[in-house]
Amino acid sequence: MASTKYPKVVGYELIQQIGGGGFSRVFRAVNIKEHRVAACKVIVLTPETSEKDRKTIEKEMRIHSQLKHRNILEFLDVVVVELKHQEHFVPGFYMLLELAAGGDLFDKIAPDIGVGDEVAHFYFNQLIAGMDYIHREGVCHRDLKPENLLLDVAGTLKISDFGLSSVFKLKDSGRTRTLTERCGSLPYVAPELNSDRPYEAEPIDVWGVGVILYTMLAGNTPWDEPTQHSPEFYRYLSGEIFQEDPWNRFSSEALSLLQGLLTIDPRERFTLEDAFQHPWCIRPSQLAKQGAASLAQALTESLRNAGDLDLASPELHQRTTNGDDDDEDEPMLSAAHNTQFTQTLMLFSQTQSGTRYTPHLTRFYASLPPEHILPLTREALTSLGVTCKDAPPPAAAGALRLRIGGQDARKEVFRGWVEIEAFEYHGALGSFCVMQKDGGNPISWRQLWRALIQAPLMEPHVLRKRRA
Ligand code: ATP
Ligand code: MG
Repeated sequence: MASTKYPKVVGYELIQQIGGGGFSRVFRAVNIKEHRVAACKVIVLTPETSEKDRKTIEKEMRIHSQLKHRNILEFLDVVVVELKHQEHFVPGFYMLLELAAGGDLFDKIAPDIGVGDEVAHFYFNQLIAGMDYIHREGVCHRDLKPENLLLDVAGTLKISDFGLSSVFKLKDSGRTRTLTERCGSLPYVAPELNSDRPYEAEPIDVWGVGVILYTMLAGNTPWDEPTQHSPEFYRYLSGEIFQEDPWNRFSSEALSLLQGLLTIDPRERFTLEDAFQHPWCIRPSQLAKQGAASLAQALTESLRNAGDLDLASPELHQRTTNGDDDDEDEPMLSAAHNTQFTQTLMLFSQTQSGTRYTPHLTRFYASLPPEHILPLTREALTSLGVTCKDAPPPAAAGALRLRIGGQDARKEVFRGWVEIEAFEYHGALGSFCVMQKDGGNPISWRQLWRALIQAPLMEPHVLRKRRA
């Protein structure tokens, strides 16, 4: 009999799934004895796992575990459970990672609005600091995109997911090589990957950094793909696009940096060094001098203005001011990811079962109980073109789950869950609904969340904060 149990990973117990997808599941993990929290990425091994798959996973771990920098998600440890031990535990690679308790950076960015110059400047500088370090170590990331940029408990940017990374430089001799594999998702890949010629490593990541900067400033990616098939890219090449929104609202300095990073010819493209020296980057950051609460406020300002936060946290309960509720599932540990930053971001929600940590702001409360809200959610999502499947409920009592998936406007695949948990509201039963993403662009995930709560079937039942 194959076990469905997860092992303890160097003293850490896997307690709540917070992400993951086709090949991996990511859990929040706690070490009770040492009062520590971490994340555990599990890649399940099956009899179908080939030797090549194993090699790929081992390469990711080998590269990731060598990278130690303030802006790189830290790789802590790994445990492997082989297939022959499947009667005890789920076989797989268990990678223990630093917990990005602040969730996805791009979960906090309002679609089509962006974060504004100050916040973009703050995080862009962290992004290039991390990338500069990676390149110095001889590694090329090759999969820079919004969903791979996470935030830690203090709001510091962490670059994650080294699944597509490759070594292009020998550290000792400094000798470099060109790369050949075609990889990455279309909205983020550099144009030179359209041909099958070998390519230089570093300019690929510089292009990715440019797309990320655009996405922070505009609240959306610039094009579906860097080819003539994309009308936006076509107008970028001709220069017409610079008269249009959002390009025409960027400051001239931001625009000049973007154009340097998104230069078609990789030999002409900015290097990271050019970016560091650029006037937009070298001005001092006002935000860096302020505390974690101001940072969280600044980061979520566009969401607040759009009214998204009134839905994510309608304050239906009296909140405890110090945040350390006695019904927390692991009370002594909550402090480890309950900081001024995560609290200002409202990553803790009150539900029937106590205070719950959710790194996803794509959530809402409804005035109907779970068994009534579930069919409405399914119908509303289906009419939005999303595929829905009923799924086995998670651990929380009274909770229901839908597995959902589809393609966004940029033709990127997304998948995830809607989890619906009971919650008492004015003496009646309501629902706490979280849309938890497994894969795909966090901005389109937020757009889907908005479309769902605005659907005629859902809107009358969704609770929002009353504005004075
Ligand atoms: P994909 O192939 O879709 O990129 P993956 O299998 O490579 O996924 P990751 O990208 O490493 O897996 O992780 C999947 C998701 O889990 C992330 O987008 C993020 O939301 C969450 N996640 C991953 N690592 C952590 C972490 N250390 N702390 C918090 N959340 C995490
Ligand atoms: Mg990923």
